[in-house]
Amino acid sequence: MTIEWEPGRLDSDLENASFDTLAVRAGQRRGPEAEHGEALFMTSSYVFRSAADAAACFAGEAKGNVYSRYMNPTVRTFEERIAALEGAEQAVATASGMAAILATVMSLCSAGDHILVSRSVFGATVTLFEKYFKRFGVEVDYVPLSDLDGWRAACKPNTRLFFVESPSNPLAELVDIRGLAEVADAHGALLAVDNCFCTPALQKPLELGAHIIIHSATKYIDGQGRCLGGVVAGRSEHMKEVVGFLRTAGPTLSPFNAWVFLKGLETLRLRMTAHCASAQALAEWLEQQPGIERIYYAGLPSHPQHELAKSQQSAFGAVVSFEVRGGQEAAWRFIDATRLLSITANLGDSKTTITHPATTTHGRLTPDARAAAGIHDSLIRVAVGLEDLEDLRADLQRGLAAL
Ligand SMILES: *Cc1c(COP(=O)(O)O)cnc(C)c1O
Repeated sequence: MTIEWEPGRLDSDLENASFDTLAVRAGQRRGPEAEHGEALFMTSSYVFRSAADAAACFAGEAKGNVYSRYMNPTVRTFEERIAALEGAEQAVATASGMAAILATVMSLCSAGDHILVSRSVFGATVTLFEKYFKRFGVEVDYVPLSDLDGWRAACKPNTRLFFVESPSNPLAELVDIRGLAEVADAHGALLAVDNCFCTPALQKPLELGAHIIIHSATKYIDGQGRCLGGVVAGRSEHMKEVVGFLRTAGPTLSPFNAWVFLKGLETLRLRMTAHCASAQALAEWLEQQPGIERIYYAGLPSHPQHELAKSQQSAFGAVVSFEVRGGQEAAWRFIDATRLLSITANLGDSKTTITHPATTTHGRLTPDARAAAGIHDSLIRVAVGLEDLEDLRADLQRGLAAL
């Protein structure tokens, strides 16, 4: 059995469809040869009609599946749906968010290239750049996220890639993506944005001029903490290289995980709307509470980049960080006094999570590096889930009472 499709082609019925329709339908096929819809193809390989058919498929002369490291219909449906939602020519799924970053750099950069990375990116991302890419002769420098002059000044003739997360974790700092894309274009570099915290429901970096989108689908795309996965999206000329690397090196997405993510995407915008509404309400309330010394949430008018956030995001995300009076001891008392929230470093789940970054996600940094990154001992991060708002507020009140 072979399943036919045109890679990268959106079903013509969906050409003018809006986000919510694409999130439910994109990648699905109509018609007799595509009756599988978005069925789960839990298979490593495919059977051919004849020896000649197999030879033609392997040679690329006939359309057809060859092997699931190369392509799988369920994974393909997920890729097409993400491409439609991000407004990308093509998307490529990977085994995890980290595999998406690995595949991007391995396929688009070479020894001797220079990469600029924003400070305060995901911990494993820093390790990947510092410990591994540098080992293969790639130069890496770090730039404060929002400082466009800093990005300009750090460019070298061999700068090939800019890598950013906006908003940043856990301090909700932003970069003007349009402005940064102009800096990248002026230096012939590609701008890659890890869009994990916003998802395409809140922010579409490609429309702002970025060249490549990276996701950990593990977070909001799944939305219920079930599967690991990732995706890279952008122009076909770049994605072709990413596909080539993945087919050869192998960190491709499991069809089962792709199927779970397809179901996740169907409710993505509804979930993000609910996550953001609760986060906004809790941030506004926390800001007024005695014991809270500082709060980091771009949805608050007091946030220095509130206007920028409004101009490039449709909402402000669901990660709220704050510093409590009394240092690490007080922060731990706050966390331990909660009864509902999960004490874990994960995020993007329907379950609200609470984290002490200084001793977990950023625990391996030296105290100086932590201070430079603005991760104080009194900092707590809450990734707001989908529980009832008043129950969440009551649980945070237990934390406040313990300060
Ligand atoms: C979780 C995360 C990653 C890594 O994703 P995995 O799916 O865990 O490999 C990368 N970037 C950001 C911003 C993340 O939150």
